[in-house]
This record gives sequence, C-alpha cells and structure tokens, in this order.
Amino acid sequence: MTDTVFSKIIAGEIPSNKLYEDEHCIVIPDINPVAAVHVLVIPKKPIKMLSEASAEDQALLGHLMLTVGKVAEQLGVSEGYRVIVNNGADGGQTVFHLHLHIIAGFAMKEADM
Ligand code: AMP
Repeated sequence: MTDTVFSKIIAGEIPSNKLYEDEHCIVIPDINPVAAVHVLVIPKKPIKMLSEASAEDQALLGHLMLTVGKVAEQLGVSEGYRVIVNNGADGGQTVFHLHLHIIAGFAMKEADM
C-alpha cells in the first residue's frame, strides 16, 4: 500500500495531536471537522479500506469499535454520536487507510458525509 497522510502520522513523520494511542490504533482530531466533535480512529495496520480487511483482522476491527466507545467517553459524548466508515472512492473515501469517523455535536452538514 502506498503511503498516506495517516501512515505518515502513525510513523511520526507528520506531527499530530493524538487523543488516544495504543499498540493497535491512534485517535486524532479530523483536520476538517464537520461537527463540534469529529475525530478519527485509525488502525496502525495499513488496511486500505474496510472491504480489504480479512478474517485475520477480525480482532483488530473489534478493537477499533471498542476504542470508539472508550474515546467517546473520554470526549464526553457517550450519550450520542455517529460512527462512519467511508469505503472506497464511491463511498466518499479520500484517504486510503482505513479509519472510523466519530462525529458528535450535530452541527453536522449531512451532505458532507
Ligand atoms: P474519508 O473521506 O473518510 O477518507 O476521510 C478522510 C478524513 O481525513 C477527512 O475528513 C479529512 O478531513 C481528514 N484528514 C485529512 N488529512 C488529515 C490530517 N492530516 N489530519 C487529520 N485529518 C485529516
């Protein structure tokens, strides 16, 4: 997989404000937020998109989902939020390294997502 901005952030080549990090993933604020809270949960493993994940990624995918809950609590939005995965260019994906958007505080522009 070619390098993306997220793999460079994970490698420390681009500085970022990590809100959470463990051995499997990082969480950073989205650079172009569509709502009051908009963060990205990004696996360290460079899976291009959800549809390219395989059975060996099952535990990792579960870990990402559980991290969503943990981070939502940390951000004080556990009452309600939206989780979005854009898959492929036709699904609106622009960075081809799997990531989950957590969006809350709905000043959200539906058309943008
Ligand atoms: P997607 O359209 O699902 O691929 O989402 C990619 C997201 O990454 C967009 O919401 C961008 O605003 C966000 N993004 C792009 N570059 C950066 C960056 N350097 N730091 C944080 N977020 C970024």
